[in-house]
Amino acid sequence: MASSYDHLVHTIHSYNPHADLTLIKKAFDLATASHKGQRRLSGEPYVNHAIRTAQFLAEMKLQTPLVIAGLLHDVPEDTTTTLDEIKKTFGEDVSSIIEGITKIGKVKYRGVSRYVENVRKFFIAMAEDARSLIVKFADRIDNLRTLDSHPPKKQFRIALESLEIFAPAANRLGMGEIKCLIEDLSFKYVNPKEYEWVKALVEQRYTKKQEFINRVMEITKKELGRNGVKIISMEGRLKSLYSLYKKLLKHERDITKIYDLIAVRILVHDVAECYSALGVLHQLWKPLKGRIKDYISQPKPNGYQSLHTTVFAIGGEIVEFQIRTEQMHDAAEYGLAAHWHYDETNKKSKIPEHHKKWIEELALIHKEMVKGMQDIEKLKMDVFQNRIFVLTPKGDVIDLPEDATPVDFAYAIHSDIGNKCSGCRVNGEMTRLDTPLKSGDMIEIIIDKNRKGPSPDWLKFVKTAGASEKIRNFARKSLTDWIKNVLPSSKK
Ligand code: MN
Repeated sequence: MASSYDHLVHTIHSYNPHADLTLIKKAFDLATASHKGQRRLSGEPYVNHAIRTAQFLAEMKLQTPLVIAGLLHDVPEDTTTTLDEIKKTFGEDVSSIIEGITKIGKVKYRGVSRYVENVRKFFIAMAEDARSLIVKFADRIDNLRTLDSHPPKKQFRIALESLEIFAPAANRLGMGEIKCLIEDLSFKYVNPKEYEWVKALVEQRYTKKQEFINRVMEITKKELGRNGVKIISMEGRLKSLYSLYKKLLKHERDITKIYDLIAVRILVHDVAECYSALGVLHQLWKPLKGRIKDYISQPKPNGYQSLHTTVFAIGGEIVEFQIRTEQMHDAAEYGLAAHWHYDETNKKSKIPEHHKKWIEELALIHKEMVKGMQDIEKLKMDVFQNRIFVLTPKGDVIDLPEDATPVDFAYAIHSDIGNKCSGCRVNGEMTRLDTPLKSGDMIEIIIDKNRKGPSPDWLKFVKTAGASEKIRNFARKSLTDWIKNVLPSSKK
């Protein structure tokens, strides 16, 4: 245990020499004490999972509250230590991140396509604090890495959920590295046969290509130097397995048609040098028509920036180059998470600015998401506008119109639950039945089995057609029953 603590502190210290180590020690000790006696399916102490999650976040060079949240992310949910206690010791910042993670964890996934879209949307909308999502990604990555100890059915479910919800969400947030990691880890369990096929294919081809790429890089370096373009680094990057797989499916499963199996990535100091490097490359080797992409002047919707080009290199063999600045590179790897990178130089003066920035960023993402949805399902758009997404105690997502009430919720689940509804708890607190609900609320309906039926008063506040119809039906039926009961007796 001591060694995993030392490792964590060492990592944090390497990028944030002023980190509050006392606080990190406190979090480490609290996690260890709270999870004491708990074990993972693999048999290892539960806390190891929390420590690895924190380690991952530290390796992303993130600020201390995120690392602490990583250590404590399963504490309120799975142990007797409460969120309030965490708040007292570690502050509002840490506790709100953890609260968000707990909420995301409650969202269940069933793999039905319309439902997937709902959950995906909910997932992002829920993350009032986007930092919760970042910790959740780290949590999920560790769960995927330790998936072997689960039964096959569960492996498949978790991996599929990761592939359909987590990876696209990471992509939306511009976290390219995280997205690829989640995809590659899930791929193995979602489609083992295809995974093995792609893996073997890459191993074969990669060994052949590696030497060639090394020669290409050598020549490129020399030529850039001769033309006065200073580079920070140049490396050959192997395409991630899952993105390669998707591409192979589009190209008759023929790996010789994939030009960017290994792409050469060049980092330079500024934008001007990106274009200079591109010019040098194009003089050295003829570019392939239609393959020059300027994502610097026209970034991708998730903010990705780079210059891409594909050239006929040595012997006419095709190679893809990606040219970018260090800043663009960080943004491409970490996306939104780059906003919480520890940065000594502007730490003090810029915290409020950072905060503002991410709020703007989140707003942009929301806008972009809505736009994206429009592209996919223009017609469904009005269905999603003015909708809220609330949760059952079991974590199922129920989609309701804005200002819907607990009674609407009860009828959305089942007419019996609506008819027998006598009270409700929203987020654990007793609440009136006419209270307008908000996205993310968790609703528990209290049922009175002896209740005869809905109150006609509910018609004054319900928002869904379904609820009002059922309440009216019930009133009509009881009236008919009453008349039936009254009439025979009046005949006597
Ligand atoms: Mn966890």
